[in-house]
Amino acid sequence: MNSTQNYIEIEKLYGANNYKPLDVVVEKAQGVWLYDVEGKKYLDCLSAYSAVNQGHCHPRILEAMIKQAQKVTLTSRAFRNSVLPQYYEKISKLTGFEKILPMNSGAEAVESAIKTVRKWGYQNKNIETDKAEIIVCSENFHGRTTTIISFSTDEGAKAEFGPYTPGFKIAKYGDIEELKSLITTNTVAIMLEPIQGEAGIKFPPKGYLKAIREICTDKNILMVLDEIQTGLGRTGKMFAYEHENIKPDMVTIGKALSGGFYPVSAVLASKEILGVFKPGEHGSTFGGSPLAAAVAIAALDVIVDEKLAQRSSELGEYFLEKLKTIKNPHIKEVRGLGLFIGIELDTKARPYCEKLFQQYGILVKETHENIIRVAPPLVITKEELDFAFDAIKSVFAE
Ligand SMILES: *Cc1c(COP(=O)(O)O)cnc(C)c1O
Repeated sequence: MNSTQNYIEIEKLYGANNYKPLDVVVEKAQGVWLYDVEGKKYLDCLSAYSAVNQGHCHPRILEAMIKQAQKVTLTSRAFRNSVLPQYYEKISKLTGFEKILPMNSGAEAVESAIKTVRKWGYQNKNIETDKAEIIVCSENFHGRTTTIISFSTDEGAKAEFGPYTPGFKIAKYGDIEELKSLITTNTVAIMLEPIQGEAGIKFPPKGYLKAIREICTDKNILMVLDEIQTGLGRTGKMFAYEHENIKPDMVTIGKALSGGFYPVSAVLASKEILGVFKPGEHGSTFGGSPLAAAVAIAALDVIVDEKLAQRSSELGEYFLEKLKTIKNPHIKEVRGLGLFIGIELDTKARPYCEKLFQQYGILVKETHENIIRVAPPLVITKEELDFAFDAIKSVFAE
């Protein structure tokens, strides 16, 4: 038994079986490259679902993490720490949002957003107790908690995990008329992804976000965008909503907020909206810790200083045009924005991912059976993209 098989056997023996990973056992990584336990090298074209936009083990983030870990890692919010204010200031100046609620995982940020908009609704819209409604979209992905899966339209994510949390209505993604028809006097927020990553890099029609912005302003409803995957440079802008020149009332971010070192997420909004909380009403032991704050400051600095959004925009355009030249009857569509690209097939995507992994050393993952998501770290070079392109082209030529 080789060592790869050995690791896989042990993992299967002890681990809950809630994932179906490619059989690569990674031991170390640097930038866009992953190395397995047998010393083989792979080009990462998934970026841990956009958590490592800055590339793996970025030296600047690593240094910030080590330095902070040697000083103080956690105070809990029972005491103050000296890094959190610097983090707040940095993120506010960078994004233009007045207030920040620090959490850890993406799902926690979404849960916190839900709590915030509900409370805002009761305080500002005169809604009867427990009647607040949030409109979400079909094929959404916002995380795995019991409340969040309650409004999922993915049976696999939802079945046998009930009873479900009420208070959500689901509109077809991209359908502005259906969304309008679901609004009632109890609607406090509309929450969606500006581009749906897990659904397979799905874009709403042009003008959709702008229309939602207008409806929300008009009806005093909060527009909440989940930018946990699309944000922080991935689509060629700091936030995907900037492509439509709008500003939502609230944004959730996570993933690349730590560059992959540590779970760091946040809810961003105005003073008025995040001002609904009083001490004791919400919290997190690790949220806003000095370690998380130091890591996030460095992760944000890298995105800005290395112009990763601009890189994503330029390289994404280059790569997308090349991918579109691949001719294969199974390719239905190649679409993307920045280095956030989906190749939709009329057949199962997994065999192509397996081949790219085993024969060409390219790591990509299928989403929804028939779509290949290509989203490498934003520090990737043109030459490395060409290497990925040649491999993808070869796989579709076979
Ligand atoms: C990954 C993701 C989440 C959940 O983040 P976790 O850190 O896995 O809890 C929520 N929303 C979107 C859009 C995501 O891509």
